[in-house]
Amino acid sequence: MFAATVLTLYPEMFPGPLGLSLAGRALAEGRWSLDTVQIRDFATDRHRSVDDTPAGGGAGMVMKVDVLASAVDHALAARPDCPVLAMSPRGAPLTQARVRALAAGAGVTILCGRFEGFDERIFEGRPVEPVSIGDYVLSGGEMGALVLLDACVRLLPGVMGAALSGDDESFETGLLEYPHYTRPVEWEGRTIPEVLRSGDHARIAAWRKSMAESDTRLRRPDLWERHEGARVGRPLARGDERD
Ligand code: SAH
Repeated sequence: MFAATVLTLYPEMFPGPLGLSLAGRALAEGRWSLDTVQIRDFATDRHRSVDDTPAGGGAGMVMKVDVLASAVDHALAARPDCPVLAMSPRGAPLTQARVRALAAGAGVTILCGRFEGFDERIFEGRPVEPVSIGDYVLSGGEMGALVLLDACVRLLPGVMGAALSGDDESFETGLLEYPHYTRPVEWEGRTIPEVLRSGDHARIAAWRKSMAESDTRLRRPDLWERHEGARVGRPLARGDERD
């Protein structure tokens, strides 16, 4: 069973939205588990402080490395088989390939930051890897943890059902998915593309492939560039990552 452990100052945020719908049903069915660890339980001083002022000055507070390390050690002792990821805008951006690899494993332990983030030494002193969910700044890592877990859980066996294996979806092939339509056939004068109503499966497949390609090229030149590079076997530029 996929075991998720979240280290947070706000355990009340979990399972939150993951207690509903697909992920919630899978949780109730025991297809995955979710445990939270209150980071503050590992504070050692009288005030149970988890943060302190930044070395070198500046605004905000920084999460204390000794407290973080105790919380991580606790999680590692319970789940030595699960990688520890820390939510951070300074981490490598999460990809579908990474999500797939995590979902195929024993589970994941996620460290959620608050304030200005973590004392950097946690990444040196413990096997903790920073991961970002995108180029914007959240107020805490909890939303990021929910995003990461949602993406993993939908891939677990039995969660989506055989019909929706997810193989076709955006990013699985390095492209965005093709656009979808459903009834009514005509809406405010707009119709569903004729090819989708033709019943010609080969033509439909060709149309979908060409739409996936043109939409990716227009909307996500970064993905398109990588996709084309992989296709023609261009050696990857430094910093490029092939998913
Ligand atoms: N001072 C930091 C931002 C701290 S935001 C910086 O400028 O890099 C507080 C916490 O929110 C972070 O420690 C992290 O856990 C979480 N967070 C914010 N943005 C995130 C993102 N894009 N991806 C993952 N976690 C994020």
